[in-house]
Amino acid sequence: MSKIYDRVALIGLGLIASSLFWAIKRDGLAGEVVGYARSSETRDTAREIGLCDTVYDSAAAAVENADLVILCVPVGAMDSVAREIAPVLKTGATITDVGSVKRAVIDAVAPHLPDHVHFVPSHPLAGTEHSGPRSGFAELFENRWFLVVPVEGSDETAIKSIEALWQGIGSNTARMDPEHHDLVLAVTSHTPHLIAYTMVGVADDLSRVTDSEVINYSAAGFRDFTRIAASDPTMWRDVFLNNKDATLEILGRFTEELFALQRAIRTGDGEMLHDYFTRTRAIRRGIIEAGQDTDAPNFGRSKT
Ligand code: NAP
Repeated sequence: MSKIYDRVALIGLGLIASSLFWAIKRDGLAGEVVGYARSSETRDTAREIGLCDTVYDSAAAAVENADLVILCVPVGAMDSVAREIAPVLKTGATITDVGSVKRAVIDAVAPHLPDHVHFVPSHPLAGTEHSGPRSGFAELFENRWFLVVPVEGSDETAIKSIEALWQGIGSNTARMDPEHHDLVLAVTSHTPHLIAYTMVGVADDLSRVTDSEVINYSAAGFRDFTRIAASDPTMWRDVFLNNKDATLEILGRFTEELFALQRAIRTGDGEMLHDYFTRTRAIRRGIIEAGQDTDAPNFGRSKT
């Protein structure tokens, strides 16, 4: 692949930013990739491991002269970061973000941006439960979806360049509007995370089953929940606070289904349970056939 941008600035240097850095450098998609992180600890780590061509001590310094700025901070921090960088953005630069919620990020970022830049929000459907500058790896985005969520008036050339970058690091791209994105992700990611957090919390509360029993005899279903429930607390707090309506809608539907299954168990309605589990099994097969997961243990995510 050839170079798409001369200078890319990563704001926030955690899992997603560090993975982007390694992937963009591996594939030669940018002349240089610079970065900024809030804490001096993260900036020192980045310098130590060679994450970024230059690490700056302020977000404003990092974005100066950047053709592409990628906001890789928690959803709740997008507003303050956008406010800080807005006055120094280069004319014609593209600003994108990787936030897991789109409507709230657009509302937080767009009002700060000057007319002479292009805003093209994005969201990679790729991640692990790990966070921080050491957790990234170049293969994270391979064969994953990178959703592009243009805002009204987004420049088509700027959108196409961003799509080329995401495709260059191995992702498939699709465009979505923000509301639809937030509803789809409430179904596929946000509510499942909440359910995992809840189930692990239940095990923690159940005093008749000891902690060591939960750990020693952990079976596949629970183990997968604990992996999800180990995800970054700040990131997930912000996701729920910022995708409130869609998450509450899906949780409402989830509760209704749960009651129906509860009744089937109480009344011994085996036919209902069997039909239900047959339907859900087909969805799992569809995900594997679409190449979005494997049958390998730990979902095949052994790299992290
Ligand atoms: P992460 O590993 O926790 O890194 C977050 C980075 O943001 C860190 O460099 C942190 O700086 C910085 N930061 C945190 N709060 C900040 C604030 N108030 N102001 C400025 N900088 C701040 O997070 P991540 O997993 O890369 O997630 C980044 C974004 O990607 C989030 O918006 C998340 O929704 C989205 N996303 C995550 C995943 C996933 O699975 N993890 C998947 C898709 C999208 P310090 O290190 O200095 O604290």
